[in-house]
Amino acid sequence: MSAGNGKPSQQLKWIGDHFDDFQKNGDGWKACCPVHDDSSPSLSLKDGDNGGVLLHCHVGCPIDPILDIAGLRMADLMPGAKPRPARRRRRKSNHKKQIREFF
Ligand SMILES: [Zn+2]
Repeated sequence: MSAGNGKPSQQLKWIGDHFDDFQKNGDGWKACCPVHDDSSPSLSLKDGDNGGVLLHCHVGCPIDPILDIAGLRMADLMPGAKPRPARRRRRKSNHKKQIREFF
């Protein structure tokens, strides 16, 4: 099997869609890491030689919280994983209640 150059596998694209700023990076792909405060994408993604997707944060964030925040599971990176409908976990946002004036 030859991995098509410059084209992500369906699985890689699906995984990448869970992260912000998913984009091409040389012969691989990159995206913003959801764990640390990432101003420029430092999460690298690539197709594994035997299938599956390799994820790596260059700052050194562990894989578990990265997947957790993105709403992914370890099994989703494994060869043969079937893309599920993207379900990004919502971060707890302490949005301020907007007080509306009705009159
Ligand atoms: Zn990170």
